[in-house]
Amino acid sequence: MSAAGFELTIGQLLRAPAQRNPDQTIHDGEGGVRTYRQLHARIDQLGAALTRLGLGRGATIAVMDWDTPRYLECYFAVPMLGATLHTVNIRLSPEQILYTINHAEDDAILCHEDFLPILLPLLPRITRPATLILLSDRPDAPLPPGFAGEFERLLAAEAPGFTFPDLTEDTRATLFYTTGTTGDPKGVTYSHRQLVLHTLGVVAAFGPVPGRGGIKTDDVYMPITPLFHVHAWGYPFVATFLGLKQVYPGRYEPARLLSLLSGHRVTYSHCVPTILAMLLAAPEAAGTDLSHWKVTIGGAALPEGLALQARAKGIDIHAGYGMSETCPIICLADMAASQTSDDIKLRTATGKAAPLVTLRVVDPDLRDVPHDGRTTGEVVVRAPWLTHDYLRNDAGTAELWAGGWMHTGDVGHMAPDGTLRITDRLKDVIKSGGEWVSSLALESLASTAPGVREVAAVGVPDDRWGERPVLVTVIDGDDAVENTIRARLERAVAAGELPKWAVPDRVVRVTAIPKTSVGKLDKKRIRQMLASGEIG
Ligand code: AMP
Repeated sequence: MSAAGFELTIGQLLRAPAQRNPDQTIHDGEGGVRTYRQLHARIDQLGAALTRLGLGRGATIAVMDWDTPRYLECYFAVPMLGATLHTVNIRLSPEQILYTINHAEDDAILCHEDFLPILLPLLPRITRPATLILLSDRPDAPLPPGFAGEFERLLAAEAPGFTFPDLTEDTRATLFYTTGTTGDPKGVTYSHRQLVLHTLGVVAAFGPVPGRGGIKTDDVYMPITPLFHVHAWGYPFVATFLGLKQVYPGRYEPARLLSLLSGHRVTYSHCVPTILAMLLAAPEAAGTDLSHWKVTIGGAALPEGLALQARAKGIDIHAGYGMSETCPIICLADMAASQTSDDIKLRTATGKAAPLVTLRVVDPDLRDVPHDGRTTGEVVVRAPWLTHDYLRNDAGTAELWAGGWMHTGDVGHMAPDGTLRITDRLKDVIKSGGEWVSSLALESLASTAPGVREVAAVGVPDDRWGERPVLVTVIDGDDAVENTIRARLERAVAAGELPKWAVPDRVVRVTAIPKTSVGKLDKKRIRQMLASGEIG
């Protein structure tokens, strides 16, 4: 490889932090700690151990684990070998997990003992013979039959100082499956170059934010988006590149997460709205100081009620936007403007394009709609870190990239200053009397009524109007909360923020709203439940 043609590979992200502050620490949720110096040595040992097992360039290596520092080591060692890291979504059904393992043609599976009850019954139906490696938090964990070794024992057998191969930047680095609610999961891949550029793009977006905002080198990072979901939105690469203190929480339990947040004085995290709502509703939250915490909310719109609740706890909260196919970050709320203004909408807006990203809102012929903050269209995007194709799915790829732009499947509008607001997913739009009703706007408004814990707006068939919106809610309190929701919506109509026909005829109270495998409101399931009379 020529020295002049420098390749952007994931291994390069490790150099600076290990040299600058090798004693910086990375923690697990059980009190375990390692330094960046040790991280480096362990990545070498993992590289050596996998190589000894015959796994290297061209192999696909699956991981089924909680969020652990060990997973972070896989994030680096596997791609640095020229292999592909397949981050298995452990929340999918066993049949879907089997589908993804077979579709990915995994050559090895690293599986935490907690997930053996899922994996072991699937083994006879896994089509490609895979090397099996046990992940355990107990040094004496017994090896199940057919397993090649246990992670820690394999590492202990290797000396540090492994030399990883030279790679070209277009080498495939990662693979995971979309969590869409329809059809088979689709395989999404990223190259080394894309992950490095995404890392630099995120640093360029978060670094220059004034004051304590954004991400600084003295921040303490803890992911609350699982490491299997779009590489925890790329932040483990960002945090490692910046040499931050990092905390990997293990399994997500509210009391445990809150105790880690305060015990380590975590200053930066990211999660979907439902997880933050769950944390803030936990009894332990009342006594936990979260005023040092900055949170990026993504994966779904940030409802105004949740943003206000977070602000009341002193949390510096903002929305971010992206999808599995976009690595994922393509758009962020204006973290600078919100430092000097109390306007909550600055924090909940989908925001402005991230560095190097071009966002457009277009009509079906790919023509830009006016940037008037009102006219809606589909959001399409170009950026250096968008997935090139779905794995072995030409029809899906052609649809994703129709006309040379990546189609997000999201509907939104853009203001004259370039601020994007997503109003719906194309699949979830509600059309009443021929007019679109924004389910996200309804949810955001209803979320501000005190006592509303969760809310989803969906369309139900209607003879007269085609479809009518229905609000499905989890409410703490009595029926008065329902009246407050109605009053809020009527006020928004009076203020011209919401068309009259958008006010739902029905508010349905439930004890829990179904969620997808990554904790988002499962609107397909909610519609089915309304249609079958299971709720309503
Ligand atoms: P996934 O591929 O599972 O990460 O889901 C991506 C989808 O989540 C997007 O296409 C949007 O519909 C939704 N989403 C993510 N972030 C936001 C946001 N800030 N506002 C509204 N919707 C969002």
